[in-house]
Amino acid sequence: MWSYDDARAAVRDALRLSRAMTYKAAVADLPLGGGKGVIVLPARAKFAASRRTAALLDFADAVEALGGRYITAEDVGTSSRDMSVIARQTSRVAGLARSRGGSGDPSPFTALGVEAAIRACCERAFGADSLRGRTICVVGLGHVGSRVAKRCARAGARLAVADVDERKRALATQLDARWLSPDQALRADVDVLVPCALGGMLDDQTVPALNCRVIAGAANNQLATERIAEQLASRSILWAPDFVANSGGLINIAEELDGYDPAAARARVRRIGDTLREIFDRAAAGGETPLAAAMALAEQRLAETGTEIETKTGTGGGRGSGSEATEPDSGAWRR
Ligand code: NAD
Repeated sequence: MWSYDDARAAVRDALRLSRAMTYKAAVADLPLGGGKGVIVLPARAKFAASRRTAALLDFADAVEALGGRYITAEDVGTSSRDMSVIARQTSRVAGLARSRGGSGDPSPFTALGVEAAIRACCERAFGADSLRGRTICVVGLGHVGSRVAKRCARAGARLAVADVDERKRALATQLDARWLSPDQALRADVDVLVPCALGGMLDDQTVPALNCRVIAGAANNQLATERIAEQLASRSILWAPDFVANSGGLINIAEELDGYDPAAARARVRRIGDTLREIFDRAAAGGETPLAAAMALAEQRLAETGTEIETKTGTGGGRGSGSEATEPDSGAWRR
């Protein structure tokens, strides 16, 4: 649910987001395509509660009309409570509370997947996947970042953390982590940088100032443009493509399709590490960036299912870049 200048901007955003979701689902080898729905808020306004409910129920009708080809879930601007409203009108909704038979909050699974991604990157960059003694800087201590920071601390990493929200300092103290400003965090001399805030953080200004060997995090659309992947490679910084590293939430939700089993979901999320190893091998063999290798892997999987994907729109940009958007994993087309 988001404010757009006009309907064309909303359609563009839905297409961009669905494209990114398609890549995420294909790389994770899920039996899903990638779909997104947008509910357009009046410009610079919030719905009154009654209008919000009406909009959610209208959206539910549209989802139901697709007869199960599209399954919706929580995303930016909506909450699990909103999903319960949608569930009044359609059963094609995922990520409901565990008490309602859903898989609940995806963030712990996204965090688990990010840890698997960090370990796979450390193995490639430093020869061992252990986090003991590694210096790790987590940027953004929200639903995912706070959990990633705790996981890294438990694994013995030496932590630095940053957030625009000063209230998050309490977690830094609890984890015995160094507190940095977001700007300092991007320049921090660490082994691993973990972006868990907004998109578009890696650009022509920030990349030359980076002081890390590995970047692996949850934030969507981390690269301002796809070209940034080459700049990172030329600086010998290993970047885990965001739509691979942050796919744990979607993998978890996909488990709902066949009857939810959290242990199976966790095992599947941990395989993000293997997926990244394959991507890094392919990148090394083909002399290309991990981004190019990940996109090629997704396109190969889509081609195997007879799905065509337009390749001209970038995966970067749009509302997730430099905006306050958060994009947990939502709607998906069944493949
Ligand atoms: P969140 O809103 O809970 O947390 C974001 C945190 O980043 C907040 O603490 C916020 O204060 C902080 N922040 C904002 N701007 C910042 C800046 N410039 N520098 C440092 N900190 C800043 O969001 P979340 O659910 O934890 O998601 C984090 C990122 O991961 C988002 O990009 C989201 O799209 C992506 N993601 C989340 C999930 C999920 O399961 N929640 C799944 C896939 C991708």
